[in-house]
Amino acid sequence: TDITTLLLSRIRDVADYPEPGVMFKDITPLLADPVAFTALTDAFAEVAERTGATKVVGLEARGFILGAPVAVRAGLGFVPVRKAGKLPGATLAQAYDLEYGSAEIEVHAEDLTADDRVLIVDDVLATGGTAEASIQLIHRAGAEVAGVAVLMELGFLEGRPRLEAALRGAPLEAL
Ligand code: 5GP
Repeated sequence: TDITTLLLSRIRDVADYPEPGVMFKDITPLLADPVAFTALTDAFAEVAERTGATKVVGLEARGFILGAPVAVRAGLGFVPVRKAGKLPGATLAQAYDLEYGSAEIEVHAEDLTADDRVLIVDDVLATGGTAEASIQLIHRAGAEVAGVAVLMELGFLEGRPRLEAALRGAPLEAL
C-alpha cells in the first residue's frame, strides 16, 4: 500500500551498527518527515481504537517517541516501560535474556490496573525479547494486553513465534 511505501522509504539501513554484521534500521528520517510521522501515528492510533486499548505502553526509548503521540491521538493515557533504575516510584520489574547477558525493564505499578487493556508500541521487533518481557510485565500488573504494534518486524529473527504464547491471542501488528 501507499503508506507502507512511504514508511519504508523513510527508514535508513545502516550497515555494521551497533556492531559488525548488524544492519541497523534507523527511523530518524521518518521522525523528521512530518507526513510520514503523522501517517505512522494515525496507523498506530487506528490499531489502538480497533483493539479497544485503554492505555498505550511505550518501550524505551524509541517506543516513547512513537507511542506518546499515538496515546494523544487516540485519547488514551501513556505509560513508559523503562530500563531498570529509571523510574522513581514503586515498580514491577521483569528480567529477560540478551544474546550476551541479561536486561531488566520496569513499569510503575500504579500506572496499570485490572481494568486496563494495553497497546504496546515500539519501533522494531527483532528477537522479541523486549516485547515478550513487556507483555509479562503488563500481565503481572494485572492488566490485559490489547496488542503489540511495531513499525517493523525483522522476520528472520523469529520474534513473532516467540511472542505467540505470551500474547494469549492478542494481535501483533507490524506496519
Ligand atoms: P528485541 O528485544 O526484539 O531483540 O529487540 C527489540 C528492541 O531493540 C526494540 O526496542 C528496538 O528499538 C531495538 N532494536 C533492535 N534492532 C533494531 C534496529 O535494527 N533498529 C532499531 N531502530 N531498533 C532496533
